[in-house]
Amino acid sequence: MIIANENFGKLASSYLFSEIGKRVNEFKNENPDAKIIRMGIGDVTLPLPKACIEAMHKAVDEMGSASTFRGYGPERGYDFLIRKICDYDYRRHGIKIDTDEVFISDGAKSDTGNITDILGHDCIVAVTDPVYPVYVDTNIMAGRKEGIVYLPCTAENNFVPELPVGDVDVIYLCFPNNPTGTTLTHDQLKKFVDYAIEHKSLILFDAAYEAFISSEDVPHSIYEISGAKSVAIEFRSYSKTAGFTGTRCSYTVVPKECIGYGLDGKEYSFNELWNRRQCTKFNGTPYIVQRAAEAIYSESGREQVRQIIDYYKTNATIIRNALISKGYTGVYGGVDSPYVWVKTPEGTDSWGFFDYLLKEKAIVSTPGAGFGSSGEGYIRLTAFNTTENTVEAMNRI
Ligand code: PLP
Repeated sequence: MIIANENFGKLASSYLFSEIGKRVNEFKNENPDAKIIRMGIGDVTLPLPKACIEAMHKAVDEMGSASTFRGYGPERGYDFLIRKICDYDYRRHGIKIDTDEVFISDGAKSDTGNITDILGHDCIVAVTDPVYPVYVDTNIMAGRKEGIVYLPCTAENNFVPELPVGDVDVIYLCFPNNPTGTTLTHDQLKKFVDYAIEHKSLILFDAAYEAFISSEDVPHSIYEISGAKSVAIEFRSYSKTAGFTGTRCSYTVVPKECIGYGLDGKEYSFNELWNRRQCTKFNGTPYIVQRAAEAIYSESGREQVRQIIDYYKTNATIIRNALISKGYTGVYGGVDSPYVWVKTPEGTDSWGFFDYLLKEKAIVSTPGAGFGSSGEGYIRLTAFNTTENTVEAMNRI
């Protein structure tokens, strides 16, 4: 008999985006002339920066010549990219990250999911609610459904999760947050780092939206907090930064002083475990893609990325300001993030407001309830669209 991983049977159905698709298709069939504006998806709309395209063309040519062809690359990533990361993303912000603490990958989704490979089976895991579903589902797949603790993030606590009650072993934090678009200040994040140091827990810090931060007091990296290197792993992605959602490149920082413990108290270096995990199950991100990512750090690349981020941030500001001026009282995020989290009007739930926006305004949103029970009563709107569409959508509301 073939024994299947029964934990998969404990997953909630991935109903959110299929249900959105179904309702949008029904609306389209009934209203074939409606100009639908999609503000639900978390995918970028602008093309790759020119600097990345040029770097990729050059790398493709290298692959076509025996003298410059590359086969298997280093599993952890090419040095040319890792050095740029250590320098531009960390050293210039006063943080020392060694090259052997950076692991290039094909996406923060893969890494935030695969990281469960290096966690003990009996870990108690805390996640925020609402939450990026990957953290929850990958832990359920690994048999930890009963070991997940939810930290609500609502308007009442200003979307700042309370510290876990008692001991938890692992805490997933994503800031700027998907879906709420909200952030933590240095002091708020420091409380989590101090908790992790005291409780010997591990923080998995997802900074996929770091590029959108412009507020002074919002940390770009968890390593800005003193002591964080001993308790935190950080995930970064080029997906939203530079339009790499289809090109696929990201990286994970696992500091050498970040230590986990066996049930007998024996110490394990998470850097060594992750290195072993990656070298065993992953053969590296394509050379061509890593050259594209490297180009982001060139002078022209940095400028082009800045323009892309500014474009989306302008859209987010348009959404925020329009909703506030139209009398919506609960409008959150959208300042250091491409996501705006909107309280549904009195008497409407997430799906009710989703249906209203779709049927009356031909606007697609994402119902907050799809991200967890604390997301009920909210919808998420995204800035990943043209400014023209964003303005038109706001005029329709
Ligand atoms: N982490 C968060 C919080 C996200 O919202 C996303 C994508 O939407 C990802 C990670 C995935 O990033 P990547 O495209 O690098 O896999």
